[in-house]
Amino acid sequence: MESGENKMCPSSTCHTGALLLGVVQSDKKIALLQTPMPVTEDFVEKAFKAGDPEKRLRFAGRCAKSGCSQWTGSRCGVIDDAMKQMEFAIDNVALPKCDIRPDCRWFNQNGADACKVCPYIITDTRPFFREHHLVDAEQ
Ligand code: SF4
Repeated sequence: MESGENKMCPSSTCHTGALLLGVVQSDKKIALLQTPMPVTEDFVEKAFKAGDPEKRLRFAGRCAKSGCSQWTGSRCGVIDDAMKQMEFAIDNVALPKCDIRPDCRWFNQNGADACKVCPYIITDTRPFFREHHLVDAEQ
């Protein structure tokens, strides 16, 4: 699998221009939207008012590669780590329908198995993420 240019990060932040990709369900799995929804400025404002968006929602945005702390130098470390930790998810299940698959960093890097682990990944599991995110956004 290649790790070429212009791929999308399927675990991005809530920001104008991103795509709303999925919603965290009560069982902590992600339900992917049939059609990802463009994120507007108004959506961002409302989403942050309701709490840290990345704890409740999954967004897709441009893969920043070396501009992201998860980039190992040649690939995304998030999906590599998740696939090691969640081997249970890599069974013979059908792939979820996903509109961004052709451009998805994780799929292009790790293939169909990435899509089987993907619904178990919540972007923000860290405390104080919102404060860091807001500071980054203001810079
Ligand atoms: S890993 Fe698969 S299911 Fe998840 S966003 Fe990428 S293409 Fe879609």
